[in-house]
Amino acid sequence: MKLLEHEARKIFGEYGIPVPKGFVICSPGELESRMGELGTRFVLKAQVEVGGRGKSGGILMADPSSGKQMAEELLQKEIKGVPVREILAVEYLEIQQEYYMSIAIDRSTKQALILFTDQGGVDIETLAKEQPGAVRKASLPLLMRDIPPFMVRDLLGKAPKELAKVMNQLYRVFCERDALLAEINPLVTTPTGVFAADAKLIIDDNALSRQGITLNRDLTEREREAEKHGFSYVELEGDIGVIGNGAGLTMATLDLIEYYDGKAANFLDVGGGADQERVMHAVRLVAADPTVQVIVVNLLGGITRCDEVARGIISAGISQQVIVRLAGTNEAEGRQILDGSGYRMMESMEQAVKAAVEAVK
Ligand code: GDP
Ligand code: MN
Repeated sequence: MKLLEHEARKIFGEYGIPVPKGFVICSPGELESRMGELGTRFVLKAQVEVGGRGKSGGILMADPSSGKQMAEELLQKEIKGVPVREILAVEYLEIQQEYYMSIAIDRSTKQALILFTDQGGVDIETLAKEQPGAVRKASLPLLMRDIPPFMVRDLLGKAPKELAKVMNQLYRVFCERDALLAEINPLVTTPTGVFAADAKLIIDDNALSRQGITLNRDLTEREREAEKHGFSYVELEGDIGVIGNGAGLTMATLDLIEYYDGKAANFLDVGGGADQERVMHAVRLVAADPTVQVIVVNLLGGITRCDEVARGIISAGISQQVIVRLAGTNEAEGRQILDGSGYRMMESMEQAVKAAVEAVK
């Protein structure tokens, strides 16, 4: 889960990384009453989970005479489609030089990947493409408690020595906070010292409970609902809803939809032994996605009983058409139940998928 800048910088601060003085506001009035804490110039920063706010008008330089008005305008803006609800107001930094420092998980080597460049503040992906030599990298096994001094020296090159301390502090944040990415862009030098002028932290979704985070904000409402029921559920771009049991059968159903030139809107794996109620929740959840026009239910009855599945589908009572393929335990009973309620039960998954693709055309 992506943290907002003000959440990330609070954590950075706890690990000793210097951050500019500041506070979060939700209204222009709040800024007015606390403006005295910020000095004669300050920066208003939209707290939205998108990068490149500077270029999109989400970072504004202000002073006590213009601050209230600018905060009001910023709170009415959308940055890359995301409405601004909170602003971080921070003291203005006299920047001498901008650096980029980040630590990420390198999945191929299963190590921490540290990146550093003295051309910070810019889009790092572009810089890495245009001047590959400008970004220095090093890999570090995650068992290491600190970054070895020789590695810090190689990464920093001619950059000031104070940055070495920040690099080790950022590494501790990265390890102890279960981060997938800890990034400071820009990390700046000023006449009064080094500061993290921006803060980015992405926490591994699998570690949220260990980190005391109870709500994953990056999930849609339906994805959260699915998590609650223990369904594997993923949203895609098309118009056919897919319900299967087992990753293999669910994936095969998706492949078949592609094969017949259809596009899946989502897929949901109900897992093993789904009963009537579980199937009902699954069907309702998939149907709640407004892009879903038709649903393919492709289930294999083993521990799962086809009659339970049939009852679950019917009790969901959704408006979209449901095309069903059931095979295995109590298949005949399942068929009878569905037939009696006007649902289409197909003989094979090819038939079911074909019918769904035709239905949306
Ligand atoms: P981002 O665009 O979302 O990455 O937002 P940043 O917080 O990184 O701000 C974008 C740019 O605004 C930085 O790279 C700086 O060049 C500039 N900036 C932000 N805060 C300050 C500040 O206190 N002083 C100065 N001089 N520039 C700042
Ligand atoms: Mn930035």
